Amino acid sequence: MSNLSLKLREYLNTHFVINAVEIHELQVSSDRTIKCAMRLHDGYVVESVLIPQGERMTACISSQVGCSLTCKFCATGKLKRMRNLNADEIVDQVKLVRDTAMERYGQPLSNIVYMGMGEPLLNYAEVVRSIEMISSPDGLGMSPRRITVSTAGVAKMIKKLADDNLRVNLALSLHAANDEKRNSIMPINETNTLENLADALNYFVDKTGVRPTFEYIAFKEFNDSIKDAMELVAFCKQVKSKVNIIEYNAIDDGEFQQTTKERLKAFTDTLEKNGVICNVRRSRGKDIDAACGQLANKNKLASQQLK
Ligand code: SF4
Repeated sequence: MSNLSLKLREYLNTHFVINAVEIHELQVSSDRTIKCAMRLHDGYVVESVLIPQGERMTACISSQVGCSLTCKFCATGKLKRMRNLNADEIVDQVKLVRDTAMERYGQPLSNIVYMGMGEPLLNYAEVVRSIEMISSPDGLGMSPRRITVSTAGVAKMIKKLADDNLRVNLALSLHAANDEKRNSIMPINETNTLENLADALNYFVDKTGVRPTFEYIAFKEFNDSIKDAMELVAFCKQVKSKVNIIEYNAIDDGEFQQTTKERLKAFTDTLEKNGVICNVRRSRGKDIDAACGQLANKNKLASQQLK
């Protein structure tokens, strides 16, 4: 910046650093989904995904390097949690994905989901600050209604999010509406049971008027029976909600499989017959390991520093 005096430039140089996030690697799926490996200033790498769907351009962003929650079906959960991202790093991801959307597809970002690597509610302060920066007219100026925070279920922090009234959407990664089964795939359920979650979600609905979405990955012969569907119906009766049924993407250890079309149909028919609104979400970006639960599966860089 040669329009600044040499003295000021020297002062800035010795007193400040700009820890900008950079795109380290970019992969494009046959369905146009783009996965970006983002390099942080200290060499760690996180992943962000751009998902184009008609008029929608959704950025799926990370909030932590790795994750401490060890959900069994998730590739990120197999990495250790290295550190939280700060708000600037989260916003940088959004800006880089937004620029990628414009460059590649000529479309602006329409939605942001905190559904990448990490549990956003365990990095609460920085996630909230990033939402404020994204939604502020002085920041990226996006409506909070276009932002969704996705949690594995931290009941206390769901209530805090309700109290802070940020007007964002909330998604709960549910995947089983039975404590024993949910404990076996999501250890966080042992301390945040379905009863605790229903209580926190009802508090959220009462305070914000926003209905949460339940994300439910259908695993073959694990949580896709009629009995499982009826347990999900019973849970949905406790909380005003919507349900997304998600196709499973196998990760390397092969512990779970994708359910069959027939079992999925019987499952969703049971939900609908019992008055539960549900959408089936086909996975995007599977060929580049960018789909739900696959982040950090193949890109081993994500778990280590790039030095
Ligand atoms: S599903 Fe989310 S909370 Fe669970 S291990 Fe993966 S990143 Fe962490």
